[in-house]
Amino acid sequence: MNDLNLIKGIGPKTSLYLSKLDIYSVNDLINHFPFRYEVLSRSDIFSLKQDDKIVIDGFIDSIPNIFRFRGGKNKMSFRLRTGNAIINVIIFNRGFLKPNLTINREITVIGKWDLVKNTVVASDIIFEGLSDQPRIESIYHTTNGLSRKNLRRYIDEALMLKPQIIDYIPQPIALQHKFIDKIKALNIIHRPSNINDLKKAMIRLKYEELFMFMLKVNILKQRNKSKVEGHAKEIRQDKVDSFIKNLPFELTLDQQTAVHDILKDISSNQAMNRLLQGDVGSGKTVVAVIAIYVMYLNKYQSAMMVPTEILARQHYENIKTLFKDTDINIKLLIGNTSKKEKASIYQGLEEGVIDLVIGTHAVMQDMVAYLNLGLVITDEQHRFGVNQRSSLKSKGSRPDVLYMSATPIPRTYALTIYGDMNISNIKTMPKNRKEIITYLKHPKEIKEVLEAIHKELLLHHQVYVVAPLIEESENSDLENVNKLKRQFELAFGKNYKVGMLHGKMSTAEKGSIMDSFANNEINILISTTVIEVGIDVKNATLMVIFDAKRFGLSTLHQLRGRVGRSDLQSYCILISDKEKERLKIMTETNDGFEISEEDFRLRGQGDLFGVKQSGDMSFKIADLKKDFKILIQAKNDAEIFINNNLIGKYPHIKEVIERSVNLD
Ligand code: ADP
Ligand code: MG
Repeated sequence: MNDLNLIKGIGPKTSLYLSKLDIYSVNDLINHFPFRYEVLSRSDIFSLKQDDKIVIDGFIDSIPNIFRFRGGKNKMSFRLRTGNAIINVIIFNRGFLKPNLTINREITVIGKWDLVKNTVVASDIIFEGLSDQPRIESIYHTTNGLSRKNLRRYIDEALMLKPQIIDYIPQPIALQHKFIDKIKALNIIHRPSNINDLKKAMIRLKYEELFMFMLKVNILKQRNKSKVEGHAKEIRQDKVDSFIKNLPFELTLDQQTAVHDILKDISSNQAMNRLLQGDVGSGKTVVAVIAIYVMYLNKYQSAMMVPTEILARQHYENIKTLFKDTDINIKLLIGNTSKKEKASIYQGLEEGVIDLVIGTHAVMQDMVAYLNLGLVITDEQHRFGVNQRSSLKSKGSRPDVLYMSATPIPRTYALTIYGDMNISNIKTMPKNRKEIITYLKHPKEIKEVLEAIHKELLLHHQVYVVAPLIEESENSDLENVNKLKRQFELAFGKNYKVGMLHGKMSTAEKGSIMDSFANNEINILISTTVIEVGIDVKNATLMVIFDAKRFGLSTLHQLRGRVGRSDLQSYCILISDKEKERLKIMTETNDGFEISEEDFRLRGQGDLFGVKQSGDMSFKIADLKKDFKILIQAKNDAEIFINNNLIGKYPHIKEVIERSVNLD
């Protein structure tokens, strides 16, 4: 009952499209929830202004007229009789609908109202009238090649097939909260008939997701608790002091405080569990480096896990430089590392001759064994799921754990999610750092942007350019970067080297481009968003972001943080034709916390927890910020559930939990 082939119209081609949406079964179709809803109620055309959104029903009053443009596009127009008015409708590229648009047929059109021309510029036509009740349309994410309409039809059929659906909310809890039945909730979420029902369905589905999430979190917390007993390390203050003194810069006060907190944790016989938060560029790495140094003095190994290979390489290079006057043996372990090198690293870790390993999740794979892992650091920790973290932690005998994040998570959320964690904040930027000056420009002002780029190049500074991003089609993304590169070569290629970085390149290629940029052999680096959080090229002083409207504020802030990493004045130019209001805050503040709060406010958890990433932080429907009340309820219920040892009584729950947290 779960095979996609059971649904009419789904063949190999459609299956492929659906797989891009992570839909592989009838169940997946049902779990592909609308990402928003549109309430369709009849507009009052007499109170509409120019370009207002309009939803209007009526009867077709003239045979549609099709005008065909060169290149296959077309424009169709007809008259619509609505109430006691007659208006015009035009719609582009739907000529194929003409046979259905017969005189006197009742339809609804949705679009923009052109008051001057008495015309609706329609984006959609629905083949029925509106009732006097507002109608709720579900809007789905889809992919190139798969129309919303077809996707909607497949989902309707999937619901009709009634595949087996597991309800994870334990009966007593469902009764207690008067939750509606799951099947009913799923039907409503796709085809709501009124807002009230929709709310109930949402709460129920969100609760289920959050309850399962909190079960996992609580089990992990419990397990961590039983291991809090750690090994106290000795702090050789004289050595630490002289190491700090020999750093190429003076630590800021906040860095000193963070170091103090961490060394205190390390020297206690409780295992450290600390989150180090600090805005991009605030200097978290060096704080971690000092902790690693203390581990080394105590003959303990450290492992540092970062989300991407480029970032791992960069950390490796930076940290090697900071340790150049010591004998610390540092290795880089990424997917790309050769087999032979890997084998030798595994051996070195097992024998204890490697003091520090830096890498992606490769450092926590099962075959990696450590002689005595004392410290685990995860950088940009919000991008890892809860599971990955715990499995790395379990590698050492109660190692100290330090999470680093540039994305400030409000304290309440951090505590709810990670449990008993201590937090250190780096709030001030290193001395001499100048605020990045940010401008917002319209694409029409490109000339000024090019002038600004030229100005920086003349000063021998380097420039990042983030290429425009087209949703849902990787190929056209690539086309875009290529085109942009050619344009930049035309403009600057004579005197400057233009490099390019995109997601389709191999790690080795990316690495070599990043190296050239870091060595100032490339002056302008054009890139899709693969310039990672954490990349550190001090001589880069200008960041240009095309199509800035497509990014969340937090992402823009992270991107902007690639510049302004030294005492050079740095700039960021955001290019956008729309959403000036939303983007304005970027020109007003460099404070990541403020920006993240604004992002939070505007779009719920947004990309803060990396919804699109895999890992336990991705939710289908729940939103950690907006649904905080439900989260707390789910948290309390989950705690009681675990304390009463009920998991064993619910095989479905047990299975999910086992799959994701390895109960042992
Ligand atoms: P992030 O917190 O974003 O990870 P990094 O640790 O990469 O920041 O530091 C950003 C840059 O600032 C690095 O080039 C680093 O060498 C430099 N830096 C760190 N601390 C200081 C300091 N106290 N004074 C001057 N520069 C510093
Ligand atoms: Mg960093």
